[in-house]
Amino acid sequence: HTEFINKKILVLGAGISGISVAYILRQLGAEVTLSDAKSADHFTNDFTQLLSAGVVLSLGNQSEELLADMNYLVLSPGISIYIPLVAKARERGITVMSEVEVAYRLSDAPVVAITGTNGKTTTTTLVGEILRTTGRKVAVGGNIGAALSEQALVADTDGFLVAEISSFQLEGVIQFRPRIAAILNITPDHLDRHRTMQIYQQMKEQVFVNQQAGDYLILNYDDSIVREMAARAPGKVVYFSRQQALESGIYVEEETIRLKWEGKIIDICKVSDIKIKGGHNVENALAACAVGYFAGAKPEKMADVLKSFPGVEHRIEPVAELAGVPYFNDSKATNPESSIKALEAFPGHIILIAGGRDKNTDLTDFMKLAKEQVDHLILLGEAQLRFAEAAAARGITAIHKVNSFQEAVMLAHRLAKPPQVVLLSPACASYDMFNNYEERGRTFKELVHRLVP
Ligand code: ADP
Repeated sequence: HTEFINKKILVLGAGISGISVAYILRQLGAEVTLSDAKSADHFTNDFTQLLSAGVVLSLGNQSEELLADMNYLVLSPGISIYIPLVAKARERGITVMSEVEVAYRLSDAPVVAITGTNGKTTTTTLVGEILRTTGRKVAVGGNIGAALSEQALVADTDGFLVAEISSFQLEGVIQFRPRIAAILNITPDHLDRHRTMQIYQQMKEQVFVNQQAGDYLILNYDDSIVREMAARAPGKVVYFSRQQALESGIYVEEETIRLKWEGKIIDICKVSDIKIKGGHNVENALAACAVGYFAGAKPEKMADVLKSFPGVEHRIEPVAELAGVPYFNDSKATNPESSIKALEAFPGHIILIAGGRDKNTDLTDFMKLAKEQVDHLILLGEAQLRFAEAAAARGITAIHKVNSFQEAVMLAHRLAKPPQVVLLSPACASYDMFNNYEERGRTFKELVHRLVP
């Protein structure tokens, strides 16, 4: 970890990752300035530890002067590489890298990286659990909880650093080389930031550009963009498929998760053994098992994990069962596509609570599915009216408009009888009523728990 000693480093973005990486680099002997374009009154973060460690804090107006004498510019995951300050830094010969690159350089453990448009957190968490069955030390980070750079110092050479990587973080990688990388899927998300699908795709490919011959790249065979990345893979490609049996790779056949590799065929478990719900989670399980297998986890241990892993908070999360009716919190579903995944995960008879900040999304597919799957549609938030109209236009009749979460949960409780389920899957952002989807999910869970007799 000597690379950063006595180096002058400017860290951009004073969020969780920025604060972590600034602190760590300072502890390692660098001269660190942490800068954020937001002024001090916009922060609730506690900078005390940072300041007493000797990090210089520069909040508000980011001028070019910040770059004077700097050796490195480190970008938080939330900062785009396209901002003018980055271009200016490059003109001055300053090395620009993302926080993930710093983490990679600090890690003694081999890195396992998971990326894709959807399913990153679930798959990364699952991979963490699977790798723990090897008895080796596993650190998990990235978008999940702790910053990756903080986790980088936890695992040792024998262990693993499991990284959830967003395309934003891939913008600034240089040497980053995961021994195992998985790309789950690519859909046209985040185009505002990456401008075109092609750039977005190229960004995702950054996850494997530095791989070498013995490394593994796990790719989704069912996603044509991802499948075709194999042509540019320096390492060994391992495909996973939910839709068809493969000549080699991991796939679903006879309702079984089957791995076929170098002449061996291993059945891991039945699809129905997987505890997390929905077809999308079968894909996440396939990817996680591929990673696990090539990292040395035993198939029977992987099966145990799949049978018991309850999923990640706010993603079709089981909350409670009241009078034979289970309640699920899917607050993370902030757009119709995500809510569609949740609706598909149940056999029907759903009492759905939806609505929130309206993103003016296309509701056609969502309402079509809701017509089949939903017994009662409870709507709230800013999107209430538009959702109600779209539902009515699809022929949904049991539409209930409520004014609060409390009302929504009480009504759901009053209506619900087995075999129905109550599902919060808003298909909207939360900002009309909450600070974020986590707060919305916690509120829902509290209200459900209050119903418990
Ligand atoms: P991410 O970290 O990429 O946002 P999460 O694991 O948090 O992914 O899942 C977020 C949402 O994305 C889920 O609630 C679900 O609706 C959807 N999702 C999860 N996995 C997949 C997948 N493999 N394919 C498509 N959608 C998925």
